[in-house]
Amino acid sequence: MAEFKQKAFGLAATDTSGVLSPFHFSRRDNGDDDVTIKILYCGVCHSDLHSVKNDWGLTQYPIVPGHEISGVVTKIGNNVEKFKVGDRVGVGVLVNSCRTCDVCQQDLESYCPKMIFTYNSTDKDGTMTYGGYSDTVVVDQHFVLRFPDNVPSDAGAPLLCAGITVYSPMKYYGMTEAGKHLGVAGLGGLGHVAVKLGKAFGLKVTVISTSPKKKEEALNKLGADAFVVSTDAADLQAAMGTMDFIIDTIAAVHSLSPLLSLLKMNGKLVTVGLPDKPLNLPIFPLVAGRKMIGGSDFGGIKETQEMLDFCGKHGIAADIELIRADEINAAMVRLAKSDVRYRFVIDIGNSISNL
Ligand code: NAP
Ligand code: ZN
Repeated sequence: MAEFKQKAFGLAATDTSGVLSPFHFSRRDNGDDDVTIKILYCGVCHSDLHSVKNDWGLTQYPIVPGHEISGVVTKIGNNVEKFKVGDRVGVGVLVNSCRTCDVCQQDLESYCPKMIFTYNSTDKDGTMTYGGYSDTVVVDQHFVLRFPDNVPSDAGAPLLCAGITVYSPMKYYGMTEAGKHLGVAGLGGLGHVAVKLGKAFGLKVTVISTSPKKKEEALNKLGADAFVVSTDAADLQAAMGTMDFIIDTIAAVHSLSPLLSLLKMNGKLVTVGLPDKPLNLPIFPLVAGRKMIGGSDFGGIKETQEMLDFCGKHGIAADIELIRADEINAAMVRLAKSDVRYRFVIDIGNSISNL
């Protein structure tokens, strides 16, 4: 492991058990274009869980997860004009890209073939990137987001991945037309933000969930208009053919048939969840209703800033369970069981040094 001058401390998994334990490492010196951030909060995304357990076969250990980072700027490089020391900022899923290819030129860095993820990627200097379950991070200013005044640092952190991953497809696939009917499959971190964004866009929003116990909160707290239990035949029957779009945020292998049956003719099913195995594609309901299935990832930097500003304007943040760093392994066990309301956020600033 390369040794740099900026000492860092965090939580790493060292094997497929996924258990996170204290880990000392270092960050590169703050370069001319860099911003050093003291991390205050980091959301716990299901992708972190997939990654520490090597669900996707891509993990290089040790891995320090975390790509829903919020904090304050402590250092800036000579070329940094966008930020000053003390600014409230965030970092999401990516920390670099080639900056020159077609997609980068279109502000779609998340689709750049040379994109560098916030963790578990090889950085430009050949070292591994380590994520936000740690006390500090050094990031090129282009990939740093500004927190609007009324977006809190704790409940706002999950917007950096969960928020943009549902906002970006909503914009791209035209799910922003007031009065249209959006289904949100899976009421977890991504799903609950999708409900809030859908309501802010003026949509009718129906949650499609395996967890009947989330119904009351979905309707009364998150503002959903309806709730379909995906294992309940009567619920499915009643909602059949009523939805214009569905965002599928489900983290595990599941059947697409019930979701396709909920769509109207010409309806769109957009999958953002990343189960560890392929899903079966039911062709008949797709063809019969001239329906469409699409995918989407976590968006570019410009759109991420737009999403944060939109959330600021509409008072949108995540519903979080704030945990200490030493509670992370218990939180991961609960996340695996879809038992979180609706995002764990690690109180890095107040607890990482006590590990
Ligand atoms: P999460 O908080 O765990 O939420 C996922 C929800 O899926 C659960 O709350 C549960 O909702 C539902 N679910 C889980 N297992 C299920 C099963 N076996 N069958 C049916 N439903 C099930 O996870 P998240 O952080 O929102 O992430 C969701 C997925 O998106 C993950 O796979 C993650 O890796 C992926 N992701 C993708 C991107 C991207 O760029 N496309 C970005 C971030 C995350 P109910 O209890 O309501 O059923
Ligand atoms: Zn994520």
